[in-house]
Amino acid sequence: MSSASALDGGQVTINLAALRDNYLTMKDKSGAAETACVVKADAYGLGLEQVAPVLYAAGCRSFFVAQSREALDLRALLPDVVIYVLNGLPTGAAAAFAAANLRPCLISLAQIKAWQAYCLTEKTALPAALFIDTGFNRLGLSEADVADLAQVSDYFNGWTVSLIASHLACSDEADNPMNRAQLECFLHMRQQLPTAPASLANSGGVILGEAYLFDMTRPGISLYGGSANGDDTALKPVVHLHAPLLQTRSLSIGDTVGYGASFTAPHDMQIGIVGLGYGDGFMRHFGDRPHSRASLMIDGQPAPILGRVSMDSLAIDLTDFATLPAVDTMVEVFGQHQTIDKLAENGQTISYELLTSLGSRYNRIWIDQ
Ligand SMILES: *Cc1c(COP(=O)(O)O)cnc(C)c1O
Repeated sequence: MSSASALDGGQVTINLAALRDNYLTMKDKSGAAETACVVKADAYGLGLEQVAPVLYAAGCRSFFVAQSREALDLRALLPDVVIYVLNGLPTGAAAAFAAANLRPCLISLAQIKAWQAYCLTEKTALPAALFIDTGFNRLGLSEADVADLAQVSDYFNGWTVSLIASHLACSDEADNPMNRAQLECFLHMRQQLPTAPASLANSGGVILGEAYLFDMTRPGISLYGGSANGDDTALKPVVHLHAPLLQTRSLSIGDTVGYGASFTAPHDMQIGIVGLGYGDGFMRHFGDRPHSRASLMIDGQPAPILGRVSMDSLAIDLTDFATLPAVDTMVEVFGQHQTIDKLAENGQTISYELLTSLGSRYNRIWIDQ
């Protein structure tokens, strides 16, 4: 993409050196456990093709994705790593999984039987994970399923349980009693299953402490600079989003701004129009006052978003600026002066959604410094 396109549209800068540092930080916090990386949804919107090789070079040898299609993309990039597919084994997909050396996270008795049937036919004990539900009630084997498995040992003939995994619902809240309850449930269910390495902790789980680490951790958001528990200062910002100031204008008291004329100037004001909108994946509700208190940043000074977010632009309040910023100034959406978590919190969303919503229209650059 030509550099001219960056002048009237937004720019995403992804710092691969910071990504590497965050991986090493999570590895350090994971102690003796292996640190696997979660790279679903195009590595949380950062670009699987750029992100996965950096994590590999930093030492990561096991990865998690959600969908088999993501797994095939990753396999093409990294031929020799372990890849787990969180959404399970689609009906009829065992041969395709085996051909690409993918490991399904088996989430039902039917999936276990399908994997086993394939392995028995091919006479090869292929690895797969048992994914168990410990209270999240999303995907996974229920307590009743696990009790079934424990009674009928036949289920485990002919294939290899390479991992027993579950997922925490409230790991971003260290004091939430749900964490302890899920940990106990996990320990209890694991006892009824064949001996295999275990994994419970996502980013937030790693911070909960040693009891949650088991044999493998599975951080995602923390690699990409999002804080799992609101204040993880050890992590570095990886993604920086900027958008250009297209025009400035003066408002008189009573003037309105944008679609629906939803903002009315309570006094004379200076505003700026920024080339960033919901067509870029910047959520419309960021302009939804008073629910949103979101600001963009110019030279470290906040410029609150005013009125509704349009498809291609939004308005910011520049009244408090001693000198009016020049047209073409690149306005920071998040990155250096405003963390992604701060913007997310002020806009009633989460860093995960901000990253995975980064639109295809941005000029994306990957730096390594
Ligand atoms: C997405 C996901 C992760 C990673 O979670 P983060 O909060 O981003 O660290 C780990 N495990 C499972 C099952 C997931 O779905």
